[in-house]
Amino acid sequence: MIYKSPITDHNSPITIRSLLRNTAVQFEERGIESPRLTAELLLAQILQMKRVELYLDFDREILEEERNCFQRSIERRLRGEPTNYILGEMEFMGFTLKIQKGVFIPRPETETLCEAVLNQIESVGVWDGLHQNDPNGRSSPTELIVFEIGCGCGAISLALALQFTTNHKYPITNYRIFASDISEEALQNARENARRLGVSSNIQFLKGDLFEPFHPLQLKADLLISNPPYVPSSLLDQLSLEIRKFEPREALDGGEDGLTFLRKIVREAPPLLKKGGLLALEVGEGQASTVQDLINPKGGFQEVEIFKDLAGIRRGVLAKLSVKESLQN
Ligand code: SAM
Ligand code: GLN
Repeated sequence: MIYKSPITDHNSPITIRSLLRNTAVQFEERGIESPRLTAELLLAQILQMKRVELYLDFDREILEEERNCFQRSIERRLRGEPTNYILGEMEFMGFTLKIQKGVFIPRPETETLCEAVLNQIESVGVWDGLHQNDPNGRSSPTELIVFEIGCGCGAISLALALQFTTNHKYPITNYRIFASDISEEALQNARENARRLGVSSNIQFLKGDLFEPFHPLQLKADLLISNPPYVPSSLLDQLSLEIRKFEPREALDGGEDGLTFLRKIVREAPPLLKKGGLLALEVGEGQASTVQDLINPKGGFQEVEIFKDLAGIRRGVLAKLSVKESLQN
């Protein structure tokens, strides 16, 4: 396919201003979402500038080499490649994550899952799982243990680690996070992110199927969190071309009704949680009530709560394991 270059169609000098304008028009014509923003992000990367700096230097002329690089980025985007794969990075919960091709790109709705859990920690102080051994009921110096299933590039675990480490409103001095994924590429990506963000010593990334890598640890968790694949198999072909063509199918395919992983996690979680420990799950649109029902009668959970994302969609479920003795504990 031949792409019309917005760069070479002009005789007058090419500046940041004209290049952004022309590229945004071209993206719009080709149905690219957020055309202007996409053009700005791609150009800022090539020029090694922040987005806002483009506006401060609007009449800067663009060198030929820069134009060629930008043109390559434009063509990748026009072929449907997601902007974050072209940039090789993305923003999540206020920090920058490296994101490599073949690894699921975290979605904004997953920030809601992180926030729901952080709110819970802040409002409850420390949950019962943490101070179950403290006869005075005070928060004890016990280590907070987190298990994440299906960590992808590490977004959720890293967001929690960064908050625990840097935000003093969370009463957590000592924590360890264990995050699993079935994909070696995802784990490599996640390890690199942990190194860059300086939290490697608190997180271990483990390869394996769902809970399997956690069993040899012989630990119980205060928090078990997951955004598992939950798209019904029959709907995968209806996802946008850019998801279908570029993102890993195994990150999205939730089986026939989308609930295969969610069901397994709900069933297998109780023995891996401390008493009073929290299960936090992201779910697909229309799945929250079903998952709530799966949780309610099983495994001694109490206080099952649904939370919404910014679009008002019931996006996830929080459930606390009872502090009383249950069959599973
Ligand atoms: N936690 C990341 C996030 O929120 O951006 C990634 C979520 S993505 C929807 C689901 C992840 O689960 C993918 O990284 C995929 O590789 C992983 N996965 C799929 N099947 C798995 C399995 N059987 N065991 C562990 N992880 C699995
Ligand atoms: N929210 C994602 C999407 O529709 C799906 C994520 C998932 O399966 N966990 O693109």
